[in-house]
Amino acid sequence: MKLSKLLTATLREAPADAEIVSHKLMLRAGMVRQLASGIYTWLPLGYRILKKVEAIVREEMNAAGAQEILMPAIQPAELWRESKRWDQYGPELLRINDRHEREFCFGPTHEEVITDLARREVRSYKQLPIILYQIQTKFRDEVRPRFGIMRAREFLMKDAYSFHLNDESLQETYEQMYATYSKIFTRLGLKFRAVIADSGNIGGDKSHEFHVLAESGEDQIVFSKNGDYVASLERAKADLGEDANALESARGIEVGHIFQLGTKYSSSMKTNCLDEHGKSVTLTMGCYGIGVSRIVAAAIEQSHDEKGIIWPTSIAPFQLALIPVNMHKSVRLRDAVISLYDDLKSNNIDVLLDDRHERPGVMFSDMELIGIPHRLVFSEKGLDAGEIEYKARQDDANRYIQIKEIITFIKEKINDN
Ligand code: ATP
Ligand code: MG
Repeated sequence: MKLSKLLTATLREAPADAEIVSHKLMLRAGMVRQLASGIYTWLPLGYRILKKVEAIVREEMNAAGAQEILMPAIQPAELWRESKRWDQYGPELLRINDRHEREFCFGPTHEEVITDLARREVRSYKQLPIILYQIQTKFRDEVRPRFGIMRAREFLMKDAYSFHLNDESLQETYEQMYATYSKIFTRLGLKFRAVIADSGNIGGDKSHEFHVLAESGEDQIVFSKNGDYVASLERAKADLGEDANALESARGIEVGHIFQLGTKYSSSMKTNCLDEHGKSVTLTMGCYGIGVSRIVAAAIEQSHDEKGIIWPTSIAPFQLALIPVNMHKSVRLRDAVISLYDDLKSNNIDVLLDDRHERPGVMFSDMELIGIPHRLVFSEKGLDAGEIEYKARQDDANRYIQIKEIITFIKEKINDN
């Protein structure tokens, strides 16, 4: 991609209402723009990151044998009445009437819709266990939308649901999802902890939250000195009463949550199938969420410096920035730069060429703000010497690499992290 064609604008200062680093940097780097409170447009740069996060989540869910579906965002009230949540959910649920005054909501989660699907489609134990998931827009009319896309009203979630004949099978899938989540967050380059959680009003009795550790996190995680016990504060209070406040604590951002729902939805919504003896059994369920858009902000909270964002290569909007110095004054350099750019692209390297008519200092600081993990600087002097300047986002000093070795060198760097 050529930067001159990218719809973006870096800002020197963040708007005053941006309170935390990730929100400030996402606005300054031109990744998102607010349309209304808690509702955002993703600009090309931000959307590239979101897509990369989504792709990793999808790959690992598929690898775990989960099947991707897409459910509607708009859900009929009758289903929520069946589960009794139409009245329980409260003002976070955005309720809508159609032209015939029929009641609907914009889905904040999909337990009702998936349970309805399962009771229609699952006929026999032979179809079980099954894991279904989607990556889809949710709406929650949060009482306090804040921190940009971190606590938005409209956001992207991966939600998965599993159906089982018995609790042993649910436990097995739950453990598999726990392992899958650990893989996903590791590939995303995040420092995280799985903590025992309170299952809140979603119901069920076993649940873990996955937290990215960060000072700005809204949640408190508590742990025992020897590390044997790690829990959300709410859960620790339920387990250890007042003792919970003795425990050590850290702050976290909840990026994932897995639950064993048991038969909470399948009983109220009468979801049964025949077991191997032909007997009708109420299915038991698990559900597994990941805050796909929230992850983008969480990654920034965890990895930035005074110059800007430091992306892990796995989710960086571009892997490499190519910065020519005074290219507009030299046809010779321009030809060499374009040929290198084409070469990098044909080697599947995600490269951003800064072809703007800007001073090198401006280009360097923009690339650092955006957080591109690898940078090449190509000048006429380098062309004469047959070399290119290389620096990783976190390096202090430049290195010089022979032009003819550059593709191999960059490929190795990208594969390293
Ligand atoms: P929180 O406690 O942060 O409000 P939650 O427990 O209500 O989240 P879940 O129902 O577990 O959220 O949803 C699954 C995931 O969706 C969460 O782990 C979180 O990463 C993400 N998420 C929830 N609410 C929001 C929001 N308002 N904006 C962005 N992501 C969200
Ligand atoms: Mg949760």
